[in-house]
Amino acid sequence: MAMLMNGEIMLLPLIVDSLTLEKEKERKQHQWQKNQNKRLRNQKLSTLPTFQSDKPYQVIFINYMTAYFVLLQLIERADKTFYFAMDTETDDISKQPALIQIQLIHLKNETFDDEKQQQEETIIIIFEMCQLPSMTSVIYPRIQQLINTIFHHSKTFLTWGNGTDELFKFTIYSLFKCVPIACLHFINVQARFKNWYNNTYKHNSHCRMVTLFHNDITDNPICDCSHRPYKNTSDTWSLQLAISTIFNQFLDKSITRNNWSQALDIRLYQNIQIGVPNYNVKSCLTDEQEQIRLKLVKYIIDDCLALTKLAFTIGKYLVSVTYQYINIILLPS
Ligand SMILES: [Zn+2]
Repeated sequence: MAMLMNGEIMLLPLIVDSLTLEKEKERKQHQWQKNQNKRLRNQKLSTLPTFQSDKPYQVIFINYMTAYFVLLQLIERADKTFYFAMDTETDDISKQPALIQIQLIHLKNETFDDEKQQQEETIIIIFEMCQLPSMTSVIYPRIQQLINTIFHHSKTFLTWGNGTDELFKFTIYSLFKCVPIACLHFINVQARFKNWYNNTYKHNSHCRMVTLFHNDITDNPICDCSHRPYKNTSDTWSLQLAISTIFNQFLDKSITRNNWSQALDIRLYQNIQIGVPNYNVKSCLTDEQEQIRLKLVKYIIDDCLALTKLAFTIGKYLVSVTYQYINIILLPS
């Protein structure tokens, strides 16, 4: 703010009103409490058996070391795939969107009613956005082609939360400049899960929701059912709590906030030379660093697998009451 004092223009600091300061303090306190609750819940659930996917999977990293022929194979595979589970990670230090995890879901007869409908081995693609090759690289156009093939309006994406918002963050990258994000079909499994859970695990007969509102299955602060952890209609299920509640398994969330822009693919730490045979490949990571790397990779893969597992659990609840989604689900393979 500028003021005229003694004939001179003086720059004064902006006076922040006490209400703004108070609101900021409240916001920080709320965030701190939220993080504390998450940490405590993680600790409490860690006694459960570790989350396991029932399906074998193959992980493929997309970065400057990805082979040309691998990209060609993925493009072909993605072209024949109509359903994908999607998750993303933002770097906690730079706040830059860093990773996109995509699981290819092949259904035998186009329904999510039974996990057996999913083909045996599944592929999880991890786009390492901070480890991409330069635009002049020979593989860059193929990565672009792969992205255009996956993020096409004929495909459907399962997400935990708002997929459009998540993907929009990645428009800072040239590869996503032409992706028609607003035209993509996302299914928010988190919202559908809430609907399925409340219909499947209704209020107890003695719950005040039943005595006052009869068949109302929604979440409400007056509900005292111990099997219904959420009490507000606006509450959303965490992926971790959904997994522990339904499968009695622990999905570790202790490393949610991380430096996700660091390389995850082991090849980015090895002395591999391109175009020549490599006989004595060594990693520059220590054993301890390698264990951390494996833990990070497992974390992002488990998030995708957990989402898919829940999607198959709720089956027909994935289909919205609107006919639009029914049409999408019944797309021919
Ligand atoms: Zn209740």
